[in-house]
Amino acid sequence: MKEHQHYLSGMVKELKPSGIRKFFDLAASIKGVISLGVGEPDFITPWSIREAAILSLEEGYTSYTANPGLLELRQEISGYLNKRFGVQYNPVDQVIVTAGASQAIDLTFRAILNPGDEVLIIEPAFVSYAPLVTLAGGKPIPVSTNPSNGFKLTAEQIENAITTKTKAILLCSPNNPTGTYLNKEELTEISRVVEKHDLLVISDEIYAELTYDDEYTSFASIEGMYDRTILINGFSKGFAMTGWRLGFLAAPQPFTEQMVKILQYTTMCAPHMLQHGAIEALRNTYHEVESMRRSYRRRRNYIVQSLNSVGLDCHTPGGAFYVFPSIKKTGMSSEQFAEELLLAEKVAVVPGSAFGESGEGYIRCSYATSMEQLQEAMQRIKRFMDSLETKENR
Ligand code: PMP
Repeated sequence: MKEHQHYLSGMVKELKPSGIRKFFDLAASIKGVISLGVGEPDFITPWSIREAAILSLEEGYTSYTANPGLLELRQEISGYLNKRFGVQYNPVDQVIVTAGASQAIDLTFRAILNPGDEVLIIEPAFVSYAPLVTLAGGKPIPVSTNPSNGFKLTAEQIENAITTKTKAILLCSPNNPTGTYLNKEELTEISRVVEKHDLLVISDEIYAELTYDDEYTSFASIEGMYDRTILINGFSKGFAMTGWRLGFLAAPQPFTEQMVKILQYTTMCAPHMLQHGAIEALRNTYHEVESMRRSYRRRRNYIVQSLNSVGLDCHTPGGAFYVFPSIKKTGMSSEQFAEELLLAEKVAVVPGSAFGESGEGYIRCSYATSMEQLQEAMQRIKRFMDSLETKENR
């Protein structure tokens, strides 16, 4: 294989594989593992959404759609954004349906970055952001947040990272992996720095339906921010539709105009019949989203309380379906902790280091799994923590 190396892109070769993957592969090779590793709902997509897609296939909707998606779906998205978050986007030229929020983020970076442009990535961060910035020719700049205030980004942290090349900042609230949610006041504080330095904001709102203590505030609804925001969202998390690969973005028209060109030449459009499922999701399944949200909330409360009671300090995150407890007192690295827990007790978690340097000393546990599984996982984690203590006392 060695002789093929010179055919390959140097930039791609330099990308590191995701730190999450390694644990999935290891966990998959062991029987009886309880996984708190995956970042996806344990619920199956609500039936009526599946039914709408089946019906679409039966009726023969197998052609391409318009590049930015079915107008009917864009109208639903526009109505949803307006009703839920109070933001207004014209469905004709300000909304694009994508293959997951992942493609929306990729489209955004490709559309806005010139070589060397810097994008601030707030860490701990979702693993895709920095590689996607790099692939689009930009430079990801990590900005570390601090556990002392529950990993909330502050205006000062942004100020310290800004250079003359900073073009944009990627915000993700609620956050993956910390679950941290930024409320309206906190977002307003950030908006002042954004305005002062003439920045763009890519607001990843994929977990907007999964907040537990507060009404969700979309960054685009903060005064003065609409024109500076590219709003990313999708169906994967709130509607339990990860495998459908359907997301969307909404932005001022000059952005979407360029993004549609990229779509034209890359994927053309999202799958036609699945877009019919998404229309049903937005029209008729809100009560089911709400019931999933209530279930995650119960599990969040349980897991936070349980982790703290076994000695793993864990703040109560405002949203998403992750908790991010500290493992610092064990003296292990997060990778070592995750590996030993997996081998000793067959519980899979993700080492915090997979999400950037400031994630070291933490692990990410997803609670998007049944209460029974969570309870069993917590018993195993307790046993693991007890065994560490016994070792220490020997
Ligand atoms: N953003 C964040 C913060 C995520 O956690 C994920 C999925 N793990 C995505 C985007 C991608 O979601 P999608 O399935 O819509 O591509």
